[in-house]
Amino acid sequence: MQSSKTKFNLKNGLASSEGVESLKRYATNLKGIFADEKSLTSLIDSSNPLIYEFYDLGVEEKPGNLAYGTSIVYPGVIGREFYMTKGGHFHTVLDTAEVYLCLSGHGLMVMENPEGGETEIQELTAGEAVLVPGRYAHRSVNISDSEPLVTFFTFAADAGHDYGTIEQKGFRKLVLRTGKETYEVVDNPNWKAD
Ligand code: MN
Repeated sequence: MQSSKTKFNLKNGLASSEGVESLKRYATNLKGIFADEKSLTSLIDSSNPLIYEFYDLGVEEKPGNLAYGTSIVYPGVIGREFYMTKGGHFHTVLDTAEVYLCLSGHGLMVMENPEGGETEIQELTAGEAVLVPGRYAHRSVNISDSEPLVTFFTFAADAGHDYGTIEQKGFRKLVLRTGKETYEVVDNPNWKAD
């Protein structure tokens, strides 16, 4: 059998297929990612919550193949910065796109081109799909106070992931909570041009 099938819960995003385990990122795994280091440290010391999880189903990384899975970002803030995926990533094969379909929740896809000059933000609610163009770093931000942000993603299986560039430079923009499901986009004070 060459085909495969995975069952995902549309509300919480979790896979229920046998032997399929998510990769989990806790607060302690996200040092250096959030602007408010002090709040992050006290969160790690108090409860070290799960910030997000996602699936790597181990699809063979060969040209023409598609990787897919769900990503689940839990609700919360560190300082005023919403929980989000690890500061984002580029694809190693830079010019490869990715599609995210929101299954549940309310969030943002924040995208930035490699030169750091352009930021694009798309709001996501259930049923909305976003095409992340090739070249753009991207991360999911949960702006709900109560619901997880659940997205289904698919991308070229041989695209690869480059987290290092964003870890080093940071995103140019931060998304900060201003009220219930409202936000402002501000310049990241720690952003490095090079
Ligand atoms: Mn990606």
